[in-house]
Amino acid sequence: MKTAAIIPAGGSGRRMETDQAKQYLLLDGTPILVHTLKIFQVTHLVDDIILVVPAGDIPSVKEMIEGRYGLSKVRTILPGGKERQDSVKNGLDTVGSDYDIVVIHDAVRCFVSEETIKSAIDGAARYEAVSIGIPIRDTVKKVTPDGVIDQTIAREGLWLTQTPQAFQTAVIKRAYEAAYRDGFYGTDDAQLVERLGIRVRMLPGAYENIKITTKEDLVMATRLLKRS
Ligand code: C5P
Repeated sequence: MKTAAIIPAGGSGRRMETDQAKQYLLLDGTPILVHTLKIFQVTHLVDDIILVVPAGDIPSVKEMIEGRYGLSKVRTILPGGKERQDSVKNGLDTVGSDYDIVVIHDAVRCFVSEETIKSAIDGAARYEAVSIGIPIRDTVKKVTPDGVIDQTIAREGLWLTQTPQAFQTAVIKRAYEAAYRDGFYGTDDAQLVERLGIRVRMLPGAYENIKITTKEDLVMATRLLKRS
């Protein structure tokens, strides 16, 4: 089974309020992006990595990946697009039908375990399309714009979606083609598959698999790294 990993790192990181995009921020001296790539480099479950970064960053990232860190599995470094979905599309367009599975994972989730990656890839081989996620543990409220609780949402069956999400190559390609044909933008890759009426399995991941998006996340990430 041949597997390609697409790592979207094409964001500019506005929510972090730093000059630097969040995927390049250092955790224990190493960029978050590199922490993530190392996990995919080491595992035998993935054959090739397709990395997507902001167009202007390609030369410096290339130097970092190939020169400084020697991450040999990174087959291509491509320019990102306006939205995450556009970045993933640029990656997906370079994946040939010789790959059985495509696994898509956010560059800014550097605490993903090999076990979770395996679960996603095996799940895609078995079910066509899977997302990793976690069941919601807190009580969910719907709140009005002026800050008053309007409704308590029944928690049963509610999950938070994470990445990796993994798909049989033909399925995710079909979903992306349909989305661009219809001008549809989703908030994750699974949604593009769901809208074709294809069943996407949700598989449990880990609470540690956080997405580093804000300064608070960075503090949490530093703690998680110390613990591991
Ligand atoms: O900010 P967001 O949650 O969308 O970021 C998730 C991942 O998608 C990040 O790794 C980010 O770099 C990437 N992304 C991208 N292209 C964009 C926006 C975000 O590859 N245009």
